[in-house]
Amino acid sequence: MQSEYERQLDARAAALATVCVHAGDARDAGGSLCRPLDVPIVLSSAFGFASADEAAGAFKGENDAYIYGRWGNPTVEALEAKVAALEGTETACATASGMAAVSGAVLALCAQGEHIVAPRSMYAESARLLRERLPRLGIETTFVDATEPGAYERALRPTTRLLYIETPANPNLAIADIRAVVALARARGIATIADNTFATPFAQNPSALGVDVVVHSMTKALAGHGDVIAGCVCGTRETIARIRDVVVKGFGGVLSPLSAFLVARGLRTFALRQRQQCASAAILASRLATHPRVAVVHHPSLPSHPGHDLAREQMQAFGALLSFELAGPRAIDAGKRVLEGVRTVTHAVSLGDVRSLLVHPASTTHSTMPPEARAAANIADGLLRLSVGIESTEDLWIDLERALAR
Ligand SMILES: *Cc1c(COP(=O)(O)O)cnc(C)c1O
Repeated sequence: MQSEYERQLDARAAALATVCVHAGDARDAGGSLCRPLDVPIVLSSAFGFASADEAAGAFKGENDAYIYGRWGNPTVEALEAKVAALEGTETACATASGMAAVSGAVLALCAQGEHIVAPRSMYAESARLLRERLPRLGIETTFVDATEPGAYERALRPTTRLLYIETPANPNLAIADIRAVVALARARGIATIADNTFATPFAQNPSALGVDVVVHSMTKALAGHGDVIAGCVCGTRETIARIRDVVVKGFGGVLSPLSAFLVARGLRTFALRQRQQCASAAILASRLATHPRVAVVHHPSLPSHPGHDLAREQMQAFGALLSFELAGPRAIDAGKRVLEGVRTVTHAVSLGDVRSLLVHPASTTHSTMPPEARAAANIADGLLRLSVGIESTEDLWIDLERALAR
């Protein structure tokens, strides 16, 4: 029997599957008898000009002739078209990594003396950017509990230029109200950025809710196979041109055509993978929630999750990531035994992969965060984060049960 949620996931997969396969397809090869179905991997640092006028026109932006790989490459552009189609934005700019996308988008939108409001619970390297690196450039950030209504508003200053959103949050899956943050920003002419890596465009399209710039680590669920590092920024032509100029042309965070090809290949099965991963995650979350060794499970599919209703309003699916805390006084040691006891699940960082991945954030991904900041962000020392892959749901459950029994 299919559950209502599985029917919803099928409908979402049906809505995206064709876009995943075909968006950004090879253009007609112009009379050649060789017509590759994929855009070729164009490994050329510079591109030839047909005439002096064409060269001059290319530099003035009067024609589309390619000039130099850091300014544009057909393989990378095909990928950008696919991602923009999935996020429903006018355009997208691929970057060398997710962090190139995050740092570049922030630096393109903010200048010295300006202020940012960001969630306390966010990707740890993004938090370091805002907490440690940007203050040296005169850009300050106030961190807020993004789940608390009014928190962004109370943190506003006359110099606030950017409201940064990351929902569901890493690693505790807290849900922030995207529409409320957007309404606040729009009323004051402030920009919004949403890191949509955790949700993926399968589960959430922040631009449809009014967010200006959507950033991704394509390393994760978009590429999906754990074999590439890549990022992207999605939004209007005007904003993305500005960000591309800073991140890619200026700072050099360009994505290699080989990496772009791998991400585009991974994206062809994105909707199918997410359908399976989201379905398994909801099943595993509900089973873990009743397991005697587990104290609490964080997944927005659970009616007990504080963000459940909000997630139903603003998301098309509840995502493939969950986290859980073990019961008992020595939860950290118990967590280590689970990490070392899994066999089908892999003990490794990253997420969104075809393989299920399990990590202990407090000692690994979030170890750079001061303990007080971790506590304030509600990241318990015994918390384990599971990114559910495409293995059989039952094989995953058998593995988790066995590891929990240790
Ligand atoms: C992984 C990740 C990043 C950084 O991406 P890289 O590709 O590793 O540079 C940023 N935000 C989130 C939410 C991530 O999971």
